[in-house]
Amino acid sequence: MQDTKVLTIALAGNPNAGKTSIFNALTGAHHKVGNYPGVTVEKREGSIEFQGRNIHIVDLPGTYSLTAYALDEVVARDFVLNEKPDIIVDVLDSTNLERNLYLLLQLIELGLPVVAALNMADEAAEKGIIINHTLLSKTLGVPMVPTVGSRGEGVRELLETTIATFDGHTLPRMPNYGADIEAHIKTLEDLLKEDQAFATAYSPRWMAIKLIEKDPDAHRRIEGLGNAADIQTATEAAWHWITLHYGKDPEIIMSEQRYGYIHGAVSEAIHRKRLRGISLTERIDRFVMHPFVGTPLFFFIIWAIFKLTFALGEYPVAWLEQLFGNLEAVVQRSTLPAVIQDLLINGIIHGVGGVLSFVPLIVILFFCISFLEDTGY
Ligand code: GDP
Ligand code: MG
Repeated sequence: MQDTKVLTIALAGNPNAGKTSIFNALTGAHHKVGNYPGVTVEKREGSIEFQGRNIHIVDLPGTYSLTAYALDEVVARDFVLNEKPDIIVDVLDSTNLERNLYLLLQLIELGLPVVAALNMADEAAEKGIIINHTLLSKTLGVPMVPTVGSRGEGVRELLETTIATFDGHTLPRMPNYGADIEAHIKTLEDLLKEDQAFATAYSPRWMAIKLIEKDPDAHRRIEGLGNAADIQTATEAAWHWITLHYGKDPEIIMSEQRYGYIHGAVSEAIHRKRLRGISLTERIDRFVMHPFVGTPLFFFIIWAIFKLTFALGEYPVAWLEQLFGNLEAVVQRSTLPAVIQDLLINGIIHGVGGVLSFVPLIVILFFCISFLEDTGY
């Protein structure tokens, strides 16, 4: 039986996380490119049929956050708030997960079901980044699927997981801001819930957090409410408490709390494997620093450098001696008075020549030493 209701999926993610690649892999040729109404931000959307369902996919602008300050962020956020997609798929760059999770937390707070694509799985593996996606998914309450968007790998599983998450009414776990801030959020949430239409239109928790973060758009949206004055008072109480206890602006504290939450989740679920290149370096290190092998090796290297310096230096030194010998002969054959000749030969030619003949040796020695330095020895 064909389900005629259209399932709308919004694709979100940081710029260059691979959103468009995943979008193309999902929709194939069935998509069109236009603009979001009233702005010149590109909007890609496509419709496909999958497992007998009609699925509509919208590629949101790439953003790092969901504040109301940058145009791309406003467009992405307004689309989610106003159009209410059925589910959000957040495309994350697995090689830079900590930074990418910041947007995921904000999407989670919007109150819609969320699924994450751990994209760039190939590059992460190459860099030795091991992500325990089952654990990370459990911690954040967001189903996660590793993908390689550019090759379409994992995209089918991503779509299956997205549909299953929507069907199962699975909602993400809300990040926790600590008991005291949570109490302020709760007070605001309760006030926001007094207007039922408003509470249906916007997630009260999200709105409460945005008010605490001094988000201008959120503050505009509550202006028309019957209890707007009470909400304003409660918001100011939250600001006052946070500033008093943390000594920083509420928006900074909220963001720091998010990063703390992410850091906790990531430190459990992500490990960095030592790469082959590193272990080769380590093997060399272990050899040259070995207690018995290392010391003789050190003396050998120093001896080799001196040997090399003098062996190579012999040639330029000989050329210089030849040059100064010739100069001496020229002066001796000249008709200059004996005193001047003596001054030129013994004073200048021998003096300068003696010093200059060391220069090639020093150049070679320094070259060897700096080479040794560059190898890290
Ligand atoms: P968007 O800015 O999020 O839409 O990112 P794009 O889809 O345009 O991808 C940015 C770049 O990353 C492109 O060059 C893609 O070919 C490449 N890319 C996308 N997904 C992957 C992936 O999983 N692995 C690798 N190695 N490259 C990818
Ligand atoms: Mg794109």
